[in-house]
Amino acid sequence: MSGMSGKILLVTGGSRGIGAATCRLAAEAGYRVAVNYASNAKAAETVVADIEAGGGEAFALKADVGSETDVLAMFEAVEDRFGGLDALVNNAGVVDSLSRVDEMSFARLERMMRINVIGPMLCAREAVKRMSTRNGGKGGAIVNLSSIAARLGGAGQYIDYAASKNAINAFTVGLAREVAEEGVRVNAVSPGIIDTEIHASGGQPDRAEKMGRVVPMQRAGTAEEVAAAILWLLSDEASYTTGANLEIGGGR
Ligand code: NAP
Repeated sequence: MSGMSGKILLVTGGSRGIGAATCRLAAEAGYRVAVNYASNAKAAETVVADIEAGGGEAFALKADVGSETDVLAMFEAVEDRFGGLDALVNNAGVVDSLSRVDEMSFARLERMMRINVIGPMLCAREAVKRMSTRNGGKGGAIVNLSSIAARLGGAGQYIDYAASKNAINAFTVGLAREVAEEGVRVNAVSPGIIDTEIHASGGQPDRAEKMGRVVPMQRAGTAEEVAAAILWLLSDEASYTTGANLEIGGGR
């Protein structure tokens, strides 16, 4: 444990998978944690209960990151509850069913970009408003969830998802430079095949097990392995790291 920091962390999509592992690990490190979710209140409440059982502080917060109204209300709720914000993990993200580009509907593309690109950008905007020393804040850290898919391209599966994560990569570098002098560090992690429910949500419940075999390490990663990298990037141990993109992919 890196000491009871008492720092305030908002994790979007903190109710399941990588986000939930990040919330739990952050609470162990002493963060007070706002656990955002979209619809599964029970999963979010379970994360909060686990943190509270361990003596930590957390609360669940329903908001669709793809809705500006929801994002504004979410940041206000964090401030009301905890009185500030030190760190943001832009983790909420979605995939879709396997599809070629010539089969993709406008509705699919719009949902993908709204949740995976516009959502993190809106959340980062609200975080920078509060953290940047230029805006009277005391600095902070942002970690964006990208994906190794951004490098591989997702051909025949979900090019739209890969493209959304490439947008996150460019956004990470640009924002990191924009606020570097203002006490805010911005980094990304790019997970490979991680064993979470996201694969089932894209219609491939056995994807982590199947794809794990093509990873040089011969297995899928765990949400906890990604969370550990996120926590390091948020921490003071990464004080000179900004604009970085850390691949957590077992060598893929
Ligand atoms: P997951 O298990 O499917 O969990 C997704 C989380 O995001 C849930 O807490 C969900 O809330 C929330 N969420 C979904 N849409 C949202 C919205 N519009 N607004 C707010 N919250 C929303 O996903 P995961 O596998 O942990 O993935 C987390 C991140 O890592 C994503 O950005 C994903 O693209 C990235 N990633 C994952 C992998 C992988 O192999 N798992 C690989 C590379 C990158 P509800 O429970 O309410 O639905």
